[in-house]
Amino acid sequence: MKFLHLLSWLLPATLCFTACKSSKSSADAAAIDSSLVCRVVFNADSAYHFAQKQCGFGPRTPGSAANKSCGDYILSQFAHFGLTTSVQATTVTGWDGTKLPCRNLLAQYRPEAKERVVLAAHYDSRPWAEQDADSANHRLPVLAADDGASGVAVMLEVARNLAALNPAIGVDFVCFDVEDYGAPYWAPEEARNNENTFCLGSQYWSAQAAAQNYRPRFGILLDMVGGRGNQFRFEGYSMKYAQSVAVRLWDAARYAGADNFFVADNGGFITDDHLPMNTIAGIPTIDVIAYNPDGGFPAHWHTTHDTMDNLDPATLRAVGQSLLQLLSQEK
Ligand SMILES: [Zn+2]
Repeated sequence: MKFLHLLSWLLPATLCFTACKSSKSSADAAAIDSSLVCRVVFNADSAYHFAQKQCGFGPRTPGSAANKSCGDYILSQFAHFGLTTSVQATTVTGWDGTKLPCRNLLAQYRPEAKERVVLAAHYDSRPWAEQDADSANHRLPVLAADDGASGVAVMLEVARNLAALNPAIGVDFVCFDVEDYGAPYWAPEEARNNENTFCLGSQYWSAQAAAQNYRPRFGILLDMVGGRGNQFRFEGYSMKYAQSVAVRLWDAARYAGADNFFVADNGGFITDDHLPMNTIAGIPTIDVIAYNPDGGFPAHWHTTHDTMDNLDPATLRAVGQSLLQLLSQEK
């Protein structure tokens, strides 16, 4: 990502209550109903392994052999965990006119269930590390341990645990391709000003979802959910379209002991795969993305340092356990 809008927004009054509550974890302990705490444990080492496997293919840039092999690996893992998998293939056009093969990977848990939720992340790597401190690296691809592999890794570990969790609803997983091919600084101004050069796979998926009248209860997008020190805040579009989902996930994080990762604060407006999910597919979807209004995206973002050694199993656990908690509470 991401075309970042540096607009700030005010926390609605209804959220101040949640925000104040969430910032006092010790005082909050008494408010947790222990009978609701999810007993299924998200294994952070397993999630870390899923990220490592993806990075082992090398940068998964659109159209590359590594992208294809990694996609096949991801599908095989979902299938191994008993999910029904399929591929949504198309061709999209990048900002530079390049025709790019695009394979969105789909996996369904309990495909027969009418009531569903959707989890999503992108699995492609950015072809250009244009934020690298060394300009000689700007046209090298990003390994995308955090900005790509981490979200899929969390989803795979959630999927591995679904049989034990036995949620009351069906769960759909979508791994988007061609998220991170957006225009770099050397692109023509028109392309740089066009936020739609990112998220090409999710734009296609969202149009198909709308055409098929796909109506899950809500969606949660994961992006940069594994970096050491990453924290998550209320992102603007998420609050605009799916505020109740955000509030519930932040509360689930409190139950999961992850409230130091989920900060009840303003997270700016970020164009990411959740935007077409909201505006094209009409699915209320939030973005769980590492962003700090003071420091911006993580230091390794779109650099050659987005590597496995900057991932932390504790971050993966915080996100994964919060998701299991949330799914366990869906009735
Ligand atoms: Zn990115």
